Amino acid sequence: MRRLGIHSFVWTAGQTIEGLEMALDRSAEQGYELVELANLRAEDFDLDRIGRRAQDLGLGLTMTMGLAPEADVSSADEAVAAHGRRELDVAIKAARDVGAVSLGGIIYSAHQKYTTMPTEDQWQRSIAAVGNAAGTAGDCGVRLVLEIVNRFETNLLNTTAQGLKFLDALGDDSVQLHLDTFHMNIEETNPEGAIRMAGDRLGYFHVGENNRGYLGDGVIDFAGIFDALLDIGYDGDVVYESFSSAVVDEKLARACAIWRDTWTESAPLAGHAKQFLELKYDEAKRRRQNLQTPS
Ligand code: MN
Repeated sequence: MRRLGIHSFVWTAGQTIEGLEMALDRSAEQGYELVELANLRAEDFDLDRIGRRAQDLGLGLTMTMGLAPEADVSSADEAVAAHGRRELDVAIKAARDVGAVSLGGIIYSAHQKYTTMPTEDQWQRSIAAVGNAAGTAGDCGVRLVLEIVNRFETNLLNTTAQGLKFLDALGDDSVQLHLDTFHMNIEETNPEGAIRMAGDRLGYFHVGENNRGYLGDGVIDFAGIFDALLDIGYDGDVVYESFSSAVVDEKLARACAIWRDTWTESAPLAGHAKQFLELKYDEAKRRRQNLQTPS
């Protein structure tokens, strides 16, 4: 694990620059090393100012997004797909301008519940769009990571195995997978096995409980998750993601079906998550040491 991060939506719906700056301040106070931002548009936010604030606080930045239905790069409607390709371009440049090192999330299809079966053509259009975006991202010094999400949020990449097949077809090693314990709990028969299978093609990792609330309250086996991350020598970022209708913005709330409060206070949630993740990580490291031959 390189850095422990937290999603800005734990703190703010992200509508104002003051809200985002508060999110950076609070995250740094809690000892996080990284803040994940939603896709910020240069016309809405002074990206330099946000980037400088993060730098002053010693915080790294990453960015994630989900393409809107009207900007679905996998759409058979060329106008919609072209809109999606432009949106990816804008997001990659925003990531560069704010100083984010990676762009993840659902960037290969729309972030929505599809009512149609995935098709081979859709798959091919998605690969072409991601390949194209990877070129731009490379020029911008931004890494693309594809988030594998549950069946209600895309019809294209629901499992790690599908994600790896997609990467094989893409044939661009700069693009990696972005896994998330919340989604894996729904789709993977063996989440730890999925992490081991992803191996060195895992580029970003979201930690979330099965109800997206407090870590440890639900059914996710974090001991097994951290054992698997250590087994593959994962050295990327681990980011806590939790949404509650107490804070989250309306568009994301609808896409992610956040209909209720899993918590109401941000600071205790963020503090608990950091302690919890450090504890689970340390425990996994000790378990690993116990398996090594004494010198
Ligand atoms: Mn996620």
